[in-house]
Amino acid sequence: MSNQLSDRINRLVPSATLEMAAKARELRAAGKDVIGLSLGEPDFNTPEYIKEAAKQAIEDNYNSYTPVDGYIELKDAIITKYKRDNGLTYDRSQIVVSTGAKQSLYNVAQVCLNQGDEVILLCPYWVSYSDIVKLSGGVPVEVPTSLETDFKMTPDQLEAAITPKTKMLWYSSPCNPSGSIYSTKELRAIADVLQKHPQILVVSDEIYEHINYGVTEHASMAAFEDMYDRTITVNGVAKAFAMTGWRIGYIGAPSYIARACNKLQGQVTSGANCIAQRAVITALLESPNRIHHMVDEFKNRRKLILGLLNEIDGFECNEPEGAFYVFPDISSFFGKELNGVKINNASDFAMYLLENANVATVTGDAFGNPNGIRISYAASEEQIKEALSRIKQAV
Ligand code: PMP
Ligand code: GLU
Repeated sequence: MSNQLSDRINRLVPSATLEMAAKARELRAAGKDVIGLSLGEPDFNTPEYIKEAAKQAIEDNYNSYTPVDGYIELKDAIITKYKRDNGLTYDRSQIVVSTGAKQSLYNVAQVCLNQGDEVILLCPYWVSYSDIVKLSGGVPVEVPTSLETDFKMTPDQLEAAITPKTKMLWYSSPCNPSGSIYSTKELRAIADVLQKHPQILVVSDEIYEHINYGVTEHASMAAFEDMYDRTITVNGVAKAFAMTGWRIGYIGAPSYIARACNKLQGQVTSGANCIAQRAVITALLESPNRIHHMVDEFKNRRKLILGLLNEIDGFECNEPEGAFYVFPDISSFFGKELNGVKINNASDFAMYLLENANVATVTGDAFGNPNGIRISYAASEEQIKEALSRIKQAV
């Protein structure tokens, strides 16, 4: 029988981060000593006080369907968090809780995009943006950035990318994969361009907000009064609270968008997991200081990995200000042979590292930047040291 799958799914590219992580798992199961630096996943345990809240929720028999857009108590905790950390004022009609920030992003794309609408993505961008946009009928418009501008888009670049079909601008700050953070001033300059184009909505993905190494203060696009009604602020607990598998993300958005996301989610997944939602109430209401030990640890690892990368010829790096990735430019290897293997592009290079150094990274192609690879330093110092020593050896 011929392929009976939809064109939609046939066109979809698998998530490169998840695919590389699966490949590393497979190789490990086959007895290979692979170090996984491909997945953006904290290697810490979820903090005890959050686990306790989940245990209590089980004891208290939270086992029923939840409201589609989240428990009222969780929405209130999110409202408190947005006010406390970002100076944003939302009411309950503007909050939707979902099964991970990935679903939050998917919901937003589905409810905002019509066939052919253009979405501006700042390269390098988080791997799933492009395919979520395409799956929703949108057309990704990639704005390239480079090491020289710390992987940030200039207002002129934005202006040049806008067409009458532009419907949205999507970015993450701190950025996955570059670690760059847009300052208040830089966001204001972007907002000034958008003022001339009132049809454009903004998705501000702030999931790495707390993983900030103190150079540039976190800023939210929606905090500008003139952008508030056009911005969807996406966040989640996966990264800052070491809760990747609990699957809770959320948005603060104009009510009409939140209502639409609620309607869509009600036909797709219903409310997110009840126990996880109860635990997240505690995660968000407790002081962010309680997770700072993890951020401090990531900061040490960042210093370690940058130092080790500097010792390897051919790797050029920016100094990431947040998140837990480095995105070195490795284009100097293109066209060369390493141990008899021809390296034509970043995918070849990432595959070479997997096969010859037993280190899993992710090709920059997946993030819309063909010159880099992403290395996650959400791993122990020992793993980072060993991985970088193997990479040095292999190249
Ligand atoms: N946005 C960015 C920038 C990410 O790195 C990730 C990866 N987890 C997500 C969204 C999705 O987060 P979640 O695990 O909550 O679905
Ligand atoms: N966001 C993480 C990453 O970029 C997790 C993997 C994924 O959801 O794609 O590695």
